[in-house]
Amino acid sequence: MGNITFTMIKPEAVEAKHTGSILKRIEEGGFRIVALKKVHLNHERAGLFYKVHKDRPFYRELVEYMSRGPIISAILEKDNAVADFRTLIGATNPEEADEGTIRKEFATNLSMNAIHGSDSDDNAITESDFHFSSKERF
Ligand code: GDP
Repeated sequence: MGNITFTMIKPEAVEAKHTGSILKRIEEGGFRIVALKKVHLNHERAGLFYKVHKDRPFYRELVEYMSRGPIISAILEKDNAVADFRTLIGATNPEEADEGTIRKEFATNLSMNAIHGSDSDDNAITESDFHFSSKERF
């Protein structure tokens, strides 16, 4: 079990000024912020980040959405980080997300679901390395 995960507060949640509320929920959930920044992924970078989904029907829409405006990206630390963070954010589809989860409260729909969380320890490392150098981590 790893102790880091990677997250992004997605463009529509940043636009709606939910950044502060979501970061508060993350810290109150026991996660320590190791790295944090605001960044606008261009079409190419968003496509690269989500390349595992390139054959899925929603890939094009996902890349358009994730490159439409700035996101907040972060590396988070906690014991059992990946699983505990996915519990905190809730199901991919907010209609199926439990009460009290971040997606239940802030997501718009299945596509615009407010926040990303890594799905494995390996992906947490790959995704963290995609966004942050070692000098940006504390
Ligand atoms: P996650 O790990 O919970 O983020 O879910 P996935 O890795 O399966 O999907 C990545 C992202 O693609 C999700 O967070 C959604 O933003 C989007 N997505 C997933 N499934 C669908 C879908 O069926 N339709 C659309 N439009 N977007 C989807």
